[in-house]
Amino acid sequence: MTKYYNNLPVRKRFGQNFLINKFVIDEIINKSNITSNDFVLEIGPGHGYLTEKIQKLVKNVFAVEIDRDLYKNLKDKFKECSNIDFVNEDFLKLELSQIDFKNIPFENRKVVANIPYYITTPIIMKLANEKIIKREGLSKSNKYFSEIIIMLQKEVADRILAKKGTKEYGSLSLICQYAFDIEKLISVDKTCFYPIPKVDSTVIKMKTKLKDDFNIVNHEIMWKIINGVFTSRRKSLRNSLKIAGLSDKDIEKVSLYYDLSIRGEELEFRDFVKISNLIGDIS
Ligand code: SAH
Repeated sequence: MTKYYNNLPVRKRFGQNFLINKFVIDEIINKSNITSNDFVLEIGPGHGYLTEKIQKLVKNVFAVEIDRDLYKNLKDKFKECSNIDFVNEDFLKLELSQIDFKNIPFENRKVVANIPYYITTPIIMKLANEKIIKREGLSKSNKYFSEIIIMLQKEVADRILAKKGTKEYGSLSLICQYAFDIEKLISVDKTCFYPIPKVDSTVIKMKTKLKDDFNIVNHEIMWKIINGVFTSRRKSLRNSLKIAGLSDKDIEKVSLYYDLSIRGEELEFRDFVKISNLIGDIS
């Protein structure tokens, strides 16, 4: 049966679980440290509770809402506010370079949002500029936001923050920690939402890194190796490297520096850099 909130249908297919706990909303605002010079992007404003608080503190808000009914409701609710722009679009289809940042400098461009959880990873990958990062590295990527403060499901936050050797550690940890400095801000219980979801939540802050801390020779090869290692987590490093397409000769080169019987998940980012820098092309 369809649930309603403020007389509007709650749409499961759009991942709608509205944050209704005022204390949590205030805590997100406090910990986000937004200022009157900021331009804030909100993904999925919903009924606009977070939006309302953000709008009062910052220079401009740009909010993207896929649900037409919520969008119309928001337009109406905030019709007196001249510093908010709403767009009725799928965030994943939005071209970030087309956003009018109103000449606000990069340091003041932030994302603050309780995002739709069914597309958490694609949202983060879009903000991280995954495609360019994996091809050419951090220094070549387009950077639109200096800070990203988002609420997401606890399990995904744990994977993003994970350190080597844990079961949460994987390619999501590596790409996020490569692109951002990440900090956990708040733990949020599932009862703070309507309807109550199955998962608990975490708010994290991700600061965009501007340049590479590493000298990566071939980005594509490195991410292929990382993928190989984490899609076959239980295999030895030797097998994972084979799966990633390394030649026997290259595997022997790696064996001069690494014990190939360990599992790849024991390696940290700089090890993957080192391994990929040791070898030639992948067949
Ligand atoms: N931020 C609000 C709502 C969270 S629910 C709050 O904290 O209460 C997730 C919101 O994202 C919903 O409003 C949903 O309609 C919207 N949404 C879902 N998919 C989206 C997409 N692809 N692009 C933009 N908004 C989306």
